[in-house]
Amino acid sequence: MTGNLNGGGRGGGGEGPCGACKFLRRKCVRGCIFAPYFDAEQGTASFATIHKVFGASNTSKMLLRLPLHKRLDAVATLGYEALARVRDPVYGCVGHLFSLQHQVMNLQAEIAHVQARLSMFQRLSLVPPQQMQQPPFDLAYNNEYPMEPTNLDVVWEEEQLPQTVRH
Ligand SMILES: [Zn+2]
Repeated sequence: MTGNLNGGGRGGGGEGPCGACKFLRRKCVRGCIFAPYFDAEQGTASFATIHKVFGASNTSKMLLRLPLHKRLDAVATLGYEALARVRDPVYGCVGHLFSLQHQVMNLQAEIAHVQARLSMFQRLSLVPPQQMQQPPFDLAYNNEYPMEPTNLDVVWEEEQLPQTVRH
C-alpha cells in the first residue's frame, strides 16, 4: 500500500495533500482530520462520494465527535452509505437491506417448504429411518434412496412453490 506512505496516517506535512484536501483543492495542514483515512490515491474518489452526499463540513464534524479509534469505522460506514445513496438516491443502503430481507424471507419459505416435504415423506415411510437425520439435499444424490432424483424434481414442479419463493 503506497497510500500509507503518501499522507495516510499523517496530517499533510510536505508530502502533498491528503485525498480529501486534494479533492477540496485546499492546503492539507498538519493534523488534517481527513488525512489518516483518505490517502492521495484511492482516498480522493471515496472522499468525493462522501462529500457529494454528506458534505465536507458535516463529515469533519461527525469525525470530530468520535474518539480516534472509532473514526476509521465511521469513515468506512460513511463511504458505504454515500455510495449506496449515489446508486439509489431514494432508498440508499435501505434498498440493500430490503433486498436482503426479501432474500431471507424467500429462503425461509423455501426451508419451510422443504421441511414440510421431508416430514411428509417421513410420514409416508418413503425414507428409511437411518436416513431421516440427513438434510433433503443428500436424499436426491443418495443411491439408496428409493425415489429417483428426477421424481423429486417433478414433485417440486407440480406442487408450485409458495408465492413468496417466486421472483
Ligand atoms: Zn488533508
